[in-house]
Amino acid sequence: MSQLANQIAVVTGGGRGIGRAIALKFASEGADVVVISRTAANAEKVAEEVRALGRRAWAYAVDVADAAAVSAAAEQILAAAGRVDILVNNAGITKDGLLMRMSDTDWDAVLDTNLKGAFLVTKAFVRSFIKQRSGRILNLSSVIGLIGNAGQCNYAASKAGLIGFTQSTARELASRGITVNAIAPGFIETDMTSELNEAMRTELLKRIPLGIFGAADDIAAAALYLASPAARYVTGQVLTVDGGMVM
Ligand code: NDP
Repeated sequence: MSQLANQIAVVTGGGRGIGRAIALKFASEGADVVVISRTAANAEKVAEEVRALGRRAWAYAVDVADAAAVSAAAEQILAAAGRVDILVNNAGITKDGLLMRMSDTDWDAVLDTNLKGAFLVTKAFVRSFIKQRSGRILNLSSVIGLIGNAGQCNYAASKAGLIGFTQSTARELASRGITVNAIAPGFIETDMTSELNEAMRTELLKRIPLGIFGAADDIAAAALYLASPAARYVTGQVLTVDGGMVM
């Protein structure tokens, strides 16, 4: 049976990687999907893939860190789709560097996209969730937000920040029938992680008890669970999907 029959989901960063896998998983479970990405072509390509699964899809090129663009897009999305049931704040970037050498620009870029972006997009849709007295919000954090990582203080701060954001909004919105949860992926094979060299990959593998890297589909499966009726009593949680890296 379709777990998300006739639900409408918005997935930010849906143009590639984990966001694309979530969009397609949701569509295969009966959801219509709004794909938001920085690059129009990426969003449109995934929207086409959703349509090929027999569901409705809309593509929007929006920078989630741009407050005016987010609020204009949310208005258009609500008008086009009629309502939204599930929001996945997945858009994220890295700009790695050691603290001493990290520029203000790289700090701001990562915090603006990963943390402020989730705030802006959630704020843009929360009124409609409150009105309909239902909604599922998923925020893509990271194991790096739980344990930190040398060379990623900006990324770790943004992902740890998302956990506080998840828990606070879960408390604020629970009485309105809205759940808010985070997923903390470990090392997942996508464009974001493709730049690691062999030595780094071998070193990383040693820290993963299951001995393999994750796939975008592993995260999509967790997102499906949290968005599905099966998770109606789960809110304010961080679901770690990491091959046992953090335990
Ligand atoms: P990718 O780099 O493969 O894809 C990122 C997506 O986010 C792209 O579609 C990109 O758009 C979009 N995006 C980036 N910045 C913005 C922005 N400002 N506004 C709108 N869209 C934006 O990343 P992953 O799929 O690997 O990661 C997805 C999420 O999961 C991220 O939040 C990441 O931090 C998190 N994560 C990933 C892990 C991994 O191992 N891969 C581990 C832990 C967490 P476009 O296609 O147009 O460039």
